[in-house]
This record gives sequence, structure tokens and C-alpha cells, in this order.
Amino acid sequence: MSTELGPCPQCGKPAGEFKDGGSGRFRYLVVCGACAWSPGPARVKDAAVKLWNEAKPVATKPPEGKAPGRRDE
Ligand SMILES: [Zn+2]
Repeated sequence: MSTELGPCPQCGKPAGEFKDGGSGRFRYLVVCGACAWSPGPARVKDAAVKLWNEAKPVATKPPEGKAPGRRDE
């Protein structure tokens, strides 16, 4: 099981930090110490790590590449 934080999906720096979200149900949150980006809170720590590690950079392109019926050019 891998529960290590990879580099920040947004800025690429290994600056992910756990923040304790308090008493809510979704209390596990990883925030980038460099750019302050976060994938959002999760209910368990593993899920927060997964969100972080599997996040895609936002504000670049809309999701594509898995469109059905892709064309071979
Ligand atoms: Zn960052």
C-alpha cells in the first residue's frame, strides 16, 4: 500500500502537507505548502493521499483522451 504523497499535481513540488480538517466527517486534507492547492478533503487519510496522488492539474485543458470512438489518424 502506498500512502506516500507524491509531488504536487499543480506545481510539481514535493510540498504536500496534511491538514487536520477538524471534527467534520471529511477531516483529512492535503494542502500544497508551495502553491496552496488542495484536491479537497476526504474521510480517511488513505483517500486524501489518493486524491492528491491521482489529481490532474486543473485550469489547463478540459478532460479528453478517453472519448469514445476515438479516431486513429
Ligand atoms: Zn503545489
